[in-house]
Amino acid sequence: MPQIIDGKAISTEIKDELKVKVEELKAQGTQVCLAVIQVGNDPASSVYVGNKKKACAYIGIESLAYELPEETTQEELLELIGELNAKKEVNGILVQLPLPKHIDEDAVIRAIDPKKDVDGFHPQSVGALCIGQPGFVSCTPAGIIQLLKRSGIEIAGKNCVVIGRSNIVGKPMALLLLRENGTVTVTHSKTRDLKEVTKQADILVVAIGKPKMITREYVKEGAVVIDVGIHRNENSKLCGDVDYDDVAPLCSAITPVPGGVGPMTIAMLMHNCVESVALQNL
Ligand code: NAD
Repeated sequence: MPQIIDGKAISTEIKDELKVKVEELKAQGTQVCLAVIQVGNDPASSVYVGNKKKACAYIGIESLAYELPEETTQEELLELIGELNAKKEVNGILVQLPLPKHIDEDAVIRAIDPKKDVDGFHPQSVGALCIGQPGFVSCTPAGIIQLLKRSGIEIAGKNCVVIGRSNIVGKPMALLLLRENGTVTVTHSKTRDLKEVTKQADILVVAIGKPKMITREYVKEGAVVIDVGIHRNENSKLCGDVDYDDVAPLCSAITPVPGGVGPMTIAMLMHNCVESVALQNL
C-alpha cells in the first residue's frame, strides 16, 4: 500500500507552528496583518476568501477584508492597493483572482508592493525565485515542497516531472524542485509522448486541470505522485487530475483529493504573511 500523504495533518502542523511565531511577534510589539481584497461576489471566490479569513483567525493574524462591488474600476482598485502598500501596519496584500473582465489582472498584480506580495505572483517575486533570492513563493507549489519534505521524501537527485506550465503552479513548481536539487522536466499540452516522459518520474507533480486524466499508464512503479487538480464530478464529489484508484496501488506515496495539496495552499499563504514581517524589515 502506498504512503498516503496527509495534507490536512501537515497543514495543521504548519499552522500551529505559525501560531507560535505570531504570538512571539505579538510579544515583540508586531501584529501580523493581511489585507484581502475581493471584487464582485463570485461564489467560489467568496468561499476562498472566507477560508483565508478563518485561517488568519486561527493563527492570530489580523485580517482586513475589502469587499468591493463588481463595477469597481481598475483605477479605484489600484488606488486602494496604493493605500495598503503605504500602510506600515499591513504586512500582506492579497487580491482574490479572477477579477472581473474589465480589470487587467497583470496591472493589479504589478501594483502590489513586492514586499507585501504574499501570493508570490509579482514579476519581482517570480524573478527572485528564479535566481534564488529572498522573496515570496507561489503558495501551492511551496506547499507541495513542504508535503514532500515533511513526509520524508527526498528530492535531491530524483527525476521530477511536472505536468503543466502555468504561472501559478507548473513553472514555480519546476523552479522549486530545481532549487531542491531535483532533475526537473516540465511537460505541457504540446509535449509528445507524454506517457514516455512521465514514466521516467520518481516524483510526478500533476497540474493539468483535467479530471482523472493520469492513469497507471503514465506512472512508474514506486513513483511519488502529487495531484494538484481539483474538480467536482457529476455526483458533486471532489476528484483530482489523477485517477486515484487506478494509480495509487502502483505508487510509493500519493496525495488524495481532497486532503492532499488543497489544504497546503492556505497554510503557505499564512506562512508568507508571517515571513512578510521579516522581509519588510530587511
Ligand atoms: P492551467 O489551466 O493554468 O494550466 C494547465 C496546464 O496543463 C497548462 O500548462 C497546459 O499546457 C497543461 N496541459 C493541459 N492539457 C494537457 C495535456 N493533455 N497534456 C499535458 N499537459 C496539459 O491550470 P493551473 O492553474 O496550473 O491548475 C491546474 C489544476 O490545479 C486545476 O485543476 C486547478 O483547479 C488546480 N489547482 C489547485 C490548487 C490547490 O490549491 N490545490 C491551486 C491551483 C490550481
